[in-house]
Amino acid sequence: MECIESKMPTFVEVLLDQNLSSPLDYSAPEHAEVGMRVLVPLKSTLKKGTITKVKDSTSCKNVKAIHQLLSVQSELSNEQWALAKWMAAYYCAPLQRVLKCFIPVNIRKAVQPKKQVFLTLNQTHDETIQLIQSLRTKSPKQAEALEEILTAPKGLFLANLNVSKSAVSSLIEKKYLKAKSLSPSKEALEEYFPSLPKKLNHEQTVCLEAIQKSIQERTFSCHLIFGVTGSGKTEVYMQAIQKALDQNQSAIMLVPEISLTSQTIERFKARFSEKIAILHHQRSLGERTQAWEDVRQGSSKLVIGARSALFAPAQNLGLIIIDEEHDSSYKQSDEIPCYHARDTAVMRSFLERCTILLGSATPSIESRYNAQIGKYRLHTLSARATSAPMPTIHIVDMFQTMERAERFTHFSDELASKLKNRLEKGEQSLLFLNKRGYHRMQLCASCQRAVKCSHCDLALTFHKQSNCLQCHLCNYRQSIPRTCPHCGSDHTMQFRGFGTEHVEKALHALFPDIRTLRMDRDTITKKHSHEDIFKQFRAHKADVLIGTQMIAKGFHFPSVTLVGILHPDATLHIPDFRSSETVFQLLIQVSGRAGRAELPGEVIIQTYLPDHPVLNMAKKQDYNAFFASEIEERKTFCYPPFCHLIKLQCSDREENTAKAKTEKIHAFLQNQIQPPNELLPVMPAGHVKVKDLYRYQFFIKVLKRSLLLPLLQTIEGAKIDVDPLSTL
Ligand SMILES: [Zn+2]
Ligand SMILES: [Zn+2]
Ligand SMILES: [Zn+2]
Repeated sequence: MECIESKMPTFVEVLLDQNLSSPLDYSAPEHAEVGMRVLVPLKSTLKKGTITKVKDSTSCKNVKAIHQLLSVQSELSNEQWALAKWMAAYYCAPLQRVLKCFIPVNIRKAVQPKKQVFLTLNQTHDETIQLIQSLRTKSPKQAEALEEILTAPKGLFLANLNVSKSAVSSLIEKKYLKAKSLSPSKEALEEYFPSLPKKLNHEQTVCLEAIQKSIQERTFSCHLIFGVTGSGKTEVYMQAIQKALDQNQSAIMLVPEISLTSQTIERFKARFSEKIAILHHQRSLGERTQAWEDVRQGSSKLVIGARSALFAPAQNLGLIIIDEEHDSSYKQSDEIPCYHARDTAVMRSFLERCTILLGSATPSIESRYNAQIGKYRLHTLSARATSAPMPTIHIVDMFQTMERAERFTHFSDELASKLKNRLEKGEQSLLFLNKRGYHRMQLCASCQRAVKCSHCDLALTFHKQSNCLQCHLCNYRQSIPRTCPHCGSDHTMQFRGFGTEHVEKALHALFPDIRTLRMDRDTITKKHSHEDIFKQFRAHKADVLIGTQMIAKGFHFPSVTLVGILHPDATLHIPDFRSSETVFQLLIQVSGRAGRAELPGEVIIQTYLPDHPVLNMAKKQDYNAFFASEIEERKTFCYPPFCHLIKLQCSDREENTAKAKTEKIHAFLQNQIQPPNELLPVMPAGHVKVKDLYRYQFFIKVLKRSLLLPLLQTIEGAKIDVDPLSTL
């Protein structure tokens, strides 16, 4: 590394990647720009950082020169820089942490994709055939190599060639083959049957025309597409993307992590001839660097990815799409900044003056409310694109079932007979239960206490296959105790509650020949194996797929005609303002898996709360009624979108310390927070202990943010979560 020799008339503020959270002054060459990466001296070492400000003077004495500029240009456009500052202010997060989104680890560490030798022919097909004939006798190995390469018209990687390396070297030397080094992605070699735009129905057409108009105008506008499951939202997305590409604009589409399967990606690759940048945590760091650079240079104009793809350095951004905008995976909760990718995307669109589409069959209450007050434009797709009817939903009262059966069963008579009927017809069924494992917990009959994780505040779940108790928060496992760990009683330990593993076993007891697949966190351990399970199910390798909420997301199963929802009640009992919304969304999304092709679908909801209004609105698939009642409730009790919630949480290995830290900050704010803002009391977190850390927290209900933000910026030692997903 060379020191910079040129004249240094400029001063810069540099935010280091680690350690200090406030910037340091350095002198820099005059072409230094905000957003450039630099290497700077600090004490006796060199540290990496980002320039956050360029200025004419400094108040520091003995200011040092930066050691090296690592970028040739700013890593962030002006709009991205503005977005970073907005995030830091809105989410009360240090800019240092926010910049990690815009300059991710693979870019910071400059991880390059691994390159391999890629071979192509240096003459026409016919010339090669002649060449092979002439080489056949004196250099048979070279002839063989050419023959193999001839079978791959676009070329192939040396590593995939089954001939001697020396034969290949000779061919390269004689200029019969061209060699270049390329990152070994399959993409260059994949060929797709191109798919053509589909004909849209009337509602889709009206929706698309409005979107195309705003893409054309290149102004900020936010469209909410409320389209029932199977209404062809994706086709609208694709035609909107085409419009942006035609205008030489780029587009970013976010999908929930779990829906980012090869099935989704292939659909887009078949439609667009453009190179698509896929940004996904399962791609290697090198692959992500490649995709990021392709986007920056404009050679990829379409970005598809999970949450973090929002920060891709797209040039001339014309369109952002948030598919399944209600999905909770768009919120980053475990790490600072605790941003919501949907809300941040709306701000990015505003700053870039571009169009944003939010799509869902069950829009979040916040987004639907924004449409109601005119901030977003609402488009409704009320019919399924294939003209398949919406599924019929039945509610079954499980109290009656239990009375009749006189013992516990997972399957009501209604569900059992419909399952039997599907088996006979060779149609498929889905069973949904949002709890994995075999038994929910092990309880002592004498002291009524459950066996808990020794690191977390949670009862351990019994897993039959691994024959152990397991913690669903930290994965801690232990063997099954014979005596009660609390009171020492013998022969008092009982199992309670059921999970998907138990349902699967019970199903086999009921239908001995049934073929089942199960999808939950226990069965998807290998990379991408959730996709393997879906592929097997689509290929009809099983009659029934049993799963947790993973099965609710965006997959198409043409021959599923029955969905059984077992016990959705647990979530309704959770004392949180979002519980009803979560249950309603889940029921509609799971039901939407039924009957998406020509076969009509049926859904059975088994519940102990058959009269619950949320279940009955789901039964009627009446989102508008649900929204109307939910928004009233939020207004009455002043919950989002009628206020903002901010959560402050402190943690410590000692419970008393965690509590004391939280109370200290709370006491400080007590004197500062004025109406209409409201400070709520200190409480233990939903699970007070997770992974040996005790967590205490409190919430602020915010009606006037401007009063509060400067105050929160002075707080240290607490994790701040603005717009948290729940109050637990
Ligand atoms: Zn006991
Ligand atoms: Zn645990
Ligand atoms: Zn995946």
